[in-house]
Amino acid sequence: MDTTPAPQPAPGADPAATPDPTPDFTPAERARGRALRRAQQPWALGARLAGLALPLLLGLTPAGAALATAVGRWFGDSRTATVLAGAAALVVLGQALQLPFGAAVRSVRVRYGLVTQGWAGWALDALRGLALTLVLVLPLVLGLFALTAWSPQHWWLPAAGAAALLTAVLSFLHPLLVEPVFNRFTPMPPGELRTALLALADRDGIRVRDVLVADASRRTTALNAYVSGLGATRRIVAYDTLLTTAEPREVELVVAHELGHVKHRDVPVGTALGAVGAAVAVAVLGLLAAWQPLLDAAGASDAADPRALPLLAALAALLGAASGPAQCAVSRRIEARADRHALELTGDAEQFVAMQRRLALANVSDVDPPRVLELLFATHPSATRRIAAARAWQAARVTRTAQGTQGRQGTEGTQGAQGTQASHSSHASQAGQAGQGRPAPEQHRTDPGKSVV
Ligand SMILES: [Zn+2]
Repeated sequence: MDTTPAPQPAPGADPAATPDPTPDFTPAERARGRALRRAQQPWALGARLAGLALPLLLGLTPAGAALATAVGRWFGDSRTATVLAGAAALVVLGQALQLPFGAAVRSVRVRYGLVTQGWAGWALDALRGLALTLVLVLPLVLGLFALTAWSPQHWWLPAAGAAALLTAVLSFLHPLLVEPVFNRFTPMPPGELRTALLALADRDGIRVRDVLVADASRRTTALNAYVSGLGATRRIVAYDTLLTTAEPREVELVVAHELGHVKHRDVPVGTALGAVGAAVAVAVLGLLAAWQPLLDAAGASDAADPRALPLLAALAALLGAASGPAQCAVSRRIEARADRHALELTGDAEQFVAMQRRLALANVSDVDPPRVLELLFATHPSATRRIAAARAWQAARVTRTAQGTQGRQGTEGTQGAQGTQASHSSHASQAGQAGQGRPAPEQHRTDPGKSVV
């Protein structure tokens, strides 16, 4: 394959400049990804809008208070009953509203051959998601309203601390508590690939006991891998679909990217950032929920009033939506850094490009989506951008190697600048960029239709 790099912007150069996807994807491949994105988009956007509109409608009018009071009455009309039943009603309504959008997205993806699961399995997943959300949310609101009862003015202070702590605990527990609800995980079977992957981690100075394989194929043909957990629960997971369809060398490049996340401590740093974000969000909630016009609109007397629950949910949904683009921007930078790590570790831009092509085609990704969609929703740079960045990295390395060769004296001469494969020692250039985190470990989990890995 021709390794002559096409002229591409250097890393860090104008990130808004759109690279040209034509050398790597045929018009038919690009059209297929774009068509899937366009077919899914109204439903995906509709789901987001509905997910925001419902809490706003219930929380900024007396409707939510009326709902909480009504369902609370079924369970004895106590304050606790109103809080718990009201929260459960909000969760159930919210998830029910998502169902038609999710079903529509699923139908589109069936047409593109991305779905391997029947409707029964899909419905069971929805029920599992609902049960998991209730298990997580109900104790939280109970704790929250214990604090508002303690002090309707100052509840947010301990709540902010608790939110930060819970973010860390949930990040730690995610692989034990959340992931097994949806997938089975098995250690990768012994073999050449496993040996190669563990050797790669070893070369990177990262202790990896195992690469876990998720049984994603019971749901989808899409390919993905991710890192989650903290400390003892840290794990690198690959979809079984990846192992069965990608070339071993492509899997190595994917795992090299995941090792980048581990190396740069993206999950712990992201969890810390998420914890700070959660604390700030709770403090803002405390401020807003003390504002009389909002309480009046919601039909609640103060934050200790269980009828304030829909208002708190509405404000939380609003804060979440407003911070989405910033979280995505941070995530895209982290993903780009993990890509650079994969390139530094393997020195293999050619296989990196092959891996990106494999992922984009298997997942029917839009390889050059509209910039506005990228800015608002993309957790990963587009395949085109990632490939362009790899080519730029390769070009810069060729230049570096050529300069190094010229500077050196002796008989080494012009030993193939492009032929050198290993370059395992140039992480220093990335050291200064530490400190960027991922917003939350869940950000790295599959979101159908998005870029992955
Ligand atoms: Zn990643």
